[in-house]
Amino acid sequence: MGVSPKVRIEDILGRVEQYLPDADGELLRHAYVFAANRHRGQVRRSGEAYLIHPLSVAWILAEMELDEVAIAVGLLHDILEDTHTTHEEMELEFGPVVTRLVVALTKISNFESSFSSREATEAENFRRLLLASTDDVRVILVKLADRLHNMRTLKHLNRDRQVAIAQETLDIYAPIANRLGIGSIKWELEDLCFHYLYPREAERLSRAVKERAKSAGRWFGELQTVIEEILSSNKIDGEVQGRVKHLYSVWQKQRRQAVDVESIFDFLAFRVIVNSVSACYATLGLLHQKWSPVPGRIKDYIAIPKPNAYQSLHTTVIGPEGHPFEIQIRTWEMHAIAEHGIAAHWNYKEHGSTPVGDSRIAWLRGLLDTTKGSSPREFLDSLKVDLYPDEVYCFTPQGDVLSFPRGATILDFAYRVHTQIGHHCVGGTVNGRWVPLRTKLTNGDIIEISTSPQQTPNHDWLTIAATARTRSKIRSWLRREEKSRAVEVGKKLLEREFQRAGSAWKRWADSAEIAALLRSHGLTREEDLFAAVGFGKIAPSVVSAHVLGSGEADGPDFPVLTAGKAGAADAPPVLEVTGDSDFLVYIARCCNPVPGEEIVGFVTRGKGVAVHAKNCPNVRNLLYHPEREIDVRWARGAAEGKASRSRVALDMKYQDRPGLLMAASHAVSSEGSNIVSCSLQTEDSGLGAVTMTVEVRDKDHLARILDKLQNVEGMLQVERRGLVRRGGP
Ligand code: MN
Repeated sequence: MGVSPKVRIEDILGRVEQYLPDADGELLRHAYVFAANRHRGQVRRSGEAYLIHPLSVAWILAEMELDEVAIAVGLLHDILEDTHTTHEEMELEFGPVVTRLVVALTKISNFESSFSSREATEAENFRRLLLASTDDVRVILVKLADRLHNMRTLKHLNRDRQVAIAQETLDIYAPIANRLGIGSIKWELEDLCFHYLYPREAERLSRAVKERAKSAGRWFGELQTVIEEILSSNKIDGEVQGRVKHLYSVWQKQRRQAVDVESIFDFLAFRVIVNSVSACYATLGLLHQKWSPVPGRIKDYIAIPKPNAYQSLHTTVIGPEGHPFEIQIRTWEMHAIAEHGIAAHWNYKEHGSTPVGDSRIAWLRGLLDTTKGSSPREFLDSLKVDLYPDEVYCFTPQGDVLSFPRGATILDFAYRVHTQIGHHCVGGTVNGRWVPLRTKLTNGDIIEISTSPQQTPNHDWLTIAATARTRSKIRSWLRREEKSRAVEVGKKLLEREFQRAGSAWKRWADSAEIAALLRSHGLTREEDLFAAVGFGKIAPSVVSAHVLGSGEADGPDFPVLTAGKAGAADAPPVLEVTGDSDFLVYIARCCNPVPGEEIVGFVTRGKGVAVHAKNCPNVRNLLYHPEREIDVRWARGAAEGKASRSRVALDMKYQDRPGLLMAASHAVSSEGSNIVSCSLQTEDSGLGAVTMTVEVRDKDHLARILDKLQNVEGMLQVERRGLVRRGGP
């Protein structure tokens, strides 16, 4: 467990002196005296003087070999929040740079009351933290040091707070440290969290490790000597470190492989640090001559660094008596980067406050860009996915390596190659074999994406995409598309409404009446009015009443309330809303449920009720808003009569053969259904995709059609898509 020794300012000054001889010691002394004065009389939960905390944070920053500004900020980081010191006073004492950083850190933790839910607060916290850190990376480094010391002294809080803070640390702060490459902080945070979140497992494992390490000590020392002799007899300068692996990583590995503490090899490992890259590879070769490597366990992170810039060679070899053990090989430079990550060898004076072009900062910035405008839940989810420590490496057919968070799919790959490739992606081949969009990527896959000009994004894709970046691209496409569709629909609705009222929309298009209507709804252009009508926010009858002054028009406002073709106003309604019948009801396009399927209604912005299939992926998100849920049911007899047929789009993949399309269309017509539209695309390879829109009566009818299509020879996959709008003008 982490210890928190009593740190003195002299220790910090001495340490800084070592790695930064021309550092401004006065700044540090001044910050120390100022902090000591302002925090005087304050105590921590532990009963210690409060000053211990900023001093310890400053010490952690000195261990990371940061510049004096960062360390001064560490000493002062709680001043604005916990004492009566003002912003202006700080600026007079310490100048603008230190003050800006302390203000940024204070803002991150100081607005909690302004948000309604814990989740929203948490999300906003991190958003601010990331934002401030892309301006000056020292913000997040001080925040990590602050969190590390708080975790080291967590035992003084009550159990509830311990669990909450440890969980947040494990979910967000440890992964952020990992993404910034700061191994030393990441490991310690994880082990501390492990202790508080899984106390019994941590206790048991640490006891087992201690016992085994004791009994294996001599034997392990011998192995270390053998490695040292191999190095020296080959004239390679290097250091061999035997080390106990971090408890949390041992535990994770055990859970992954579902094994118990079998042997010491699970938690003891060696690290060899040498002077050059060529010495790394030479050492690997020599060790493999001595002990056989375990196939598949050699990892060359020198040739392919991790996204956080980590580099090393990893191998597992079969040791004495057939026991495998792990060895990492790296240069001193790589070692510094593995321990201190973005903070390693960073000279703020030369390069400014953030490393330009550093992939780790680019990642922070990218995360902020892609989650712009997302809800707190979406933001936290994206953050967690993108922070997930495991990465998957895949290859393009040209041999370029792309890395993804574990869980990423073919669709994520396509969007990474190019946004347009993503928009039109129908699937791809993995190592030459055809796979659909939702297939998860695995390490070493060689992936080629197939596209079709007919293919476009739909709402389902949001559940297939695993990264924030992909989702944001899909969302922006959908928003554009929905807006233009709404404009089209709204225009048609208004034209029809005016025609029914004995007038013509065209005659009023640029009139003063319309201009007044736009103003009263806060709209600027006619197109905005079309969109508002198309989205169901303004009923067409409201517009005609306003312009023609004829009072409320009768008849349905929205075409989907009654099923079937335009003008079929006397067809029976297919859906009923329990209770309030004033709602406009429409079938959600994402899942497009057909009569007989289980459905749920949600009140949308404006005044409509969207009806989703109960198992629609979007419903899961909507369930967080129970206040918007509303009871809907299929009207009796909804499935009867031609007027109430639903249109369902089917996506199919096939291996081309003569007569395939005919067989497919026969399958549909043999079930008494009708193909409304069909488009297909066959590639040179003979693989193809077809999208077919068919009419169905209800759920059972659809199931039978799907079944028949599935059985057509050459058909590889039949999937239902939820893009088609029912009825419509
Ligand atoms: Mn603090």
